[in-house]
Amino acid sequence: MNRLLTIIVPCFNEQEVLPLFIEAITPVRKELFEKNELNTEVLFVDDGSSDSTLELLRSFHEKDESVRYISFSKNFGKEAGILAGLKNAKGDYAVLMDADLQHPPALLPKMYWELTGSSVSDGTADTDASMSKVLPVNPYDSIAMYRDDRKKEGFFRRHFSSMFFKLMNKLSKLNMVNGATDFRMMNRPMINAIISMPETNRFSKGIFNWVGFNTKWLPFETGERPAGESKWTFGKLISYSFDALLSFSEVPLKICSWLGIIFCLISFITGLVHFIKTLVFGDPVAGFPTLYLMMLLLGGIVLLFLGIMGQYMARIYLEIKQRPVYIIKESDDSSGQ
Ligand code: UDP
Ligand code: MG
Repeated sequence: MNRLLTIIVPCFNEQEVLPLFIEAITPVRKELFEKNELNTEVLFVDDGSSDSTLELLRSFHEKDESVRYISFSKNFGKEAGILAGLKNAKGDYAVLMDADLQHPPALLPKMYWELTGSSVSDGTADTDASMSKVLPVNPYDSIAMYRDDRKKEGFFRRHFSSMFFKLMNKLSKLNMVNGATDFRMMNRPMINAIISMPETNRFSKGIFNWVGFNTKWLPFETGERPAGESKWTFGKLISYSFDALLSFSEVPLKICSWLGIIFCLISFITGLVHFIKTLVFGDPVAGFPTLYLMMLLLGGIVLLFLGIMGQYMARIYLEIKQRPVYIIKESDDSSGQ
């Protein structure tokens, strides 16, 4: 039986680019079928769009049953879209891509080839090629793409993002490639591992890394967005990075404890010095500036640490409530979950 690849596409208000996406993906699907005997399905996840994205998806499905869709009851964010896509994918493989053609569909055959090691069968299938279907000749479970064209981005965003990857790798046990994107193809065991992770606060790039498996990284150049606009503002990016850090690192909490210990030691030593000084020289009334500076400093630090702990507590609270990551309002298939 032919294998199936699910192409997962989260979309939020993408009415302008969706027709272009279908136009671009159709020849690639045909090529995958003809050259690799690979069946494909496209699974759009409408993330609570307020434009006519959903109507478009319905019409795509009517024309072609292998174009499926899920629609959320509101905007739950791209991370939720990724999870819903992976949970509802029927394929032996799945690939995540953006709707805006910034992840070029033309790269799919190459990614599939790298993932499975299956040679392009051009009708001259010999025993070696048929063997490769039985024995996995390639040790990779996932092919992940990283951006190799950061120069195209604005100065601010480029530096912020490379700082983010450096900081994440230092402060957590993850090892992420600078420029890592969500553009990634993976096999069924890896998909199952990802959807088995129950956390509500999902930072997919971290989860992909955390579950392990063998990943090959390939560079790619992002295309220009042909229409519509990016949904990321700088503020959103900062809060995303903060979420990522808190979900995968305990270092901020450790810094709190260490600084707490250091300040206790400093106050103990200063106390001792003052005690001895008073015994030797008497007690001239001095040191008010030191006093209020210390108070301000300690007050500030205590508040800061309470804040950091509060952030972790808020996350624990959210996880404990076990709210669903997304709610499906409509899908092409009523068995969608
Ligand atoms: N997206 C989504 N939900 C959101 C924001 C974005 O599903 O809340 C989708 C969007 O439709 C696109 C992909 O995520 O397919 C990447 O979004 P965008 O192009 O805005 O991000 P950028 O390329 O600027 O990082
Ligand atoms: Mg984009």
